Amino acid sequence: MLEKWQAEFKRYKSLYFIYLLIFLLCLGSMAFFVYKDNQATSRKLTMEVVNMRQGPGVTYDIERQLTKDTPYQIMREENDWYYVKLKDNSTGWLPKWLVNPQAFAETSSFIATVLADSAPIYEDNTVDSKQIAEAQKHQKFQILHQIDGWVQIQTDQGTAWISQDTIEITPGTMSEGAVITSRMQDLQDDLLADGQYSVVPTAEGVNIRQAPEPGAEIIGKTAEEDVLTYLGQEDAYYHVQLADGQEGYIANWLADSNATAMADLANQMEETSTLSNQVIVLDPGHGGDDPGAMNDTINEKSVTLKTAHAVKDKLEAAGATVYLTREDDSTVELGERVEISKRTGADAFISLHFDAYDSISASGTSTYYYDDGSVPLAQAVQAQLLEQLPLSSNGIRFGDFQVTRENPAPSLLLELGYMSNPSDVKTFTQDDYYQDVAEAVYDGLVVYFQK
Ligand SMILES: [Zn+2]
Repeated sequence: MLEKWQAEFKRYKSLYFIYLLIFLLCLGSMAFFVYKDNQATSRKLTMEVVNMRQGPGVTYDIERQLTKDTPYQIMREENDWYYVKLKDNSTGWLPKWLVNPQAFAETSSFIATVLADSAPIYEDNTVDSKQIAEAQKHQKFQILHQIDGWVQIQTDQGTAWISQDTIEITPGTMSEGAVITSRMQDLQDDLLADGQYSVVPTAEGVNIRQAPEPGAEIIGKTAEEDVLTYLGQEDAYYHVQLADGQEGYIANWLADSNATAMADLANQMEETSTLSNQVIVLDPGHGGDDPGAMNDTINEKSVTLKTAHAVKDKLEAAGATVYLTREDDSTVELGERVEISKRTGADAFISLHFDAYDSISASGTSTYYYDDGSVPLAQAVQAQLLEQLPLSSNGIRFGDFQVTRENPAPSLLLELGYMSNPSDVKTFTQDDYYQDVAEAVYDGLVVYFQK
C-alpha cells in the first residue's frame, strides 16, 4: 500500500508542488488583506479641530477637542457617528461627516453655529483675505463647502468663509425664512448695483412686440446677451425698454426677470411667516401596543409615524412650532393626545391615520372634522390633498373621534389611504408620498391661517 502511494506521489509530485504553491499564494494574499484592513482602520484627522463627544450626538458633552493629525481607530458606527479609540486608549464619539470627507460630500446640508464670542468672516479661505463681517456667538449659517479647516457659508452679504476653529458643524438646513431672506438680500444688492429691474431673454431672436398679445406687430428681436429694462407686466408679457429707448413687449415664458423672482420670494416669505407663529400638534395614530390597521407587510402605526415626521420637518422649516403626540413606537392613550393639544395651546391639531375596510376596492383619502369650527381647516387641507396626492380624495366628512371631539383646537383626522387596498398601499409606501402629504398639509395650513 505504501509503495503504491509512493509511486503515486512520484507521478503526481509536480502536481502536488503546484497545489502547494497555490496554497501559499492564497495564504499570502489573505495576510496582505488582513494587513490592509488594519491600515484602513487607523486614520488621522484632517480637520483642524474636532470635538470628541461622550455619545453619538451633538447633545452629548464634549469629552475633549482633537486636533489635526490625531490618529484614531474606528471601533463601530452608529447614527452617522463613529465610536473611536485613540492611541492612549481613550474612547469617544466623532461625527462621521467631519472625519470622513466622502460622507461630508454626500450630505449637502450642514449648519455652522458660532461657538466663539465673536468670529471673523472672511472673503476667502485665508486670514490674509479681507474680513467682511464679525459673526456673534450662537449665530448660524448654512454651510456650502468645506476645505482645509475652513467652511464656506451663506451670509446676508453673499458667500463668505469662516474658520472651523470658531464654529460647530451639525447636519441640517436653515429655516426657509432665513434662506429666503438671504436670497432677497442678494437680489436687492443686484438691484442697487443696476438701479432697476431687468428682463433677460432666455434665447436669441425672441420677438419684441408693439402690444402684449401674440399677433401684435414685431418691432424687434432680442440679440445674444441682451438685458432689457423692466417697466412692468401686462398679462403674460413683460413691458420692456430696449437699449435704444424704444418700448415693447416680450412673452414672459421666453424671458426671466429679477422683478418676478423678487415677487416670488416675497410670496414665499409671506407663506413662511404665516406659519411662524403657529403651534401645530401632529398626532401619528396608534403606536406601541396598538398597531392600528395591519396587512401582510406593514402596520398602520409605523406609516403614521413616518408621515408625521415628514410633515413635522416641512412645517418646522417654515418656522412653525410642531409637537408630535408620540416621537417613536410608544403607547399613548387618546386622552393624553388631547391633553398634549391643550397643554401646548395648539392652533391646529392633525391626527394621521390610514384606513381599512372589508372590501379591497375602498380607496383614497378622507378628511374628518367634528365641530363646525374645524370645517374651514378641513376644507383647506382637503383641497390640497385632492390637488397634490396621487390617491383620490373622498372629501371632508363628519367623524366622531375622541382626539377631534374633545379637542379645543381646530382639529382634523386624516385617513391617508387604505391599508386594505393593495394599490393604495403600493402608492403610500413610496417615499415621495410622505413628502407629498407634507406639502399638501403645509399648503393647506398656509391657506387656512392666511384667512
Ligand atoms: Zn387608525
